[in-house]
Amino acid sequence: MDTKTMYKLSYGLFVCTAVSGDKKNGCIINTAIQVASDPNRISIAVNKANLTHDMVKETRKCNVSVLSTEAKFQLFKHFGFQTGKTVDKFAPDALDALAKEISAGASASNIYETADNGIPYITAGTNAYFSLKVEQEVDLGSHTLFICEPTEMVVLSDSPSCTYAYYQDEIKPKPQPVDPSAVPKGETVWKCRICGYEYVGEEMPDDFICPICKHGKEDFEKIVR
Ligand code: FE
Repeated sequence: MDTKTMYKLSYGLFVCTAVSGDKKNGCIINTAIQVASDPNRISIAVNKANLTHDMVKETRKCNVSVLSTEAKFQLFKHFGFQTGKTVDKFAPDALDALAKEISAGASASNIYETADNGIPYITAGTNAYFSLKVEQEVDLGSHTLFICEPTEMVVLSDSPSCTYAYYQDEIKPKPQPVDPSAVPKGETVWKCRICGYEYVGEEMPDDFICPICKHGKEDFEKIVR
């Protein structure tokens, strides 16, 4: 089996948001699809390691905001490269900082609004959102597949949707060269050129995915000192 076959599948990119009690949270997913038309059903698969997963499972509702080609890398970083288990992604000061990075003078109110279901949807770098009610769930090991009924669907802009390929080619920063002097003598380190994560070991598995930024082995540089 050629594992590269997997790269021939195309995906969109989305922010899945949920609320549990006082906690608002969201993560990036690439697996929102319409799976039936009558009745209209949308499925999303969410990694069980994500806090958002537990919140959707518990509350049985979420919003899915569709990322557009206007989305900035900082938005992916904010929702995708950190976990709500240790960071409050909706803290006003964190969102103010994010808004300023994305566009000078903007504030948290330029990042999200709250839908009728009480859950935030992302307004920065998105072109639509769905409010979803979970109807069925399927345990798939690493992920749970939630099959959902849309309770609200809103178009926010005419910008094209961001595909995973567009993200890889146009949004993700070009991999940065790594400073070899930062690696201790006698060690072999694979350093992620996108986020700086270090994998220590002689060989890295071909299917390795960076735990921080989710990029693959091709974005790692091997450094031996
Ligand atoms: Fe990384």
